[in-house]
Amino acid sequence: MKCPNCGNRTSLNLDMHSGGFSSGEAPLKECGECGLVWRVKIEAGETMIDIIKPADKKK
Ligand SMILES: [Zn+2]
Repeated sequence: MKCPNCGNRTSLNLDMHSGGFSSGEAPLKECGECGLVWRVKIEAGETMIDIIKPADKKK
């Protein structure tokens, strides 16, 4: 999964420690390059990107 902000492929899965999210939800991803946190969801057959936290502009 490429980062939707910078295109980097170094993404971290943030939800690996928690079993608390509902099964229909994709896990949160964090970009190792720009710090963007996002989630991919499928809505009406289309892939949507949910930005949870904007990219870290200090990097
Ligand atoms: Zn990124």
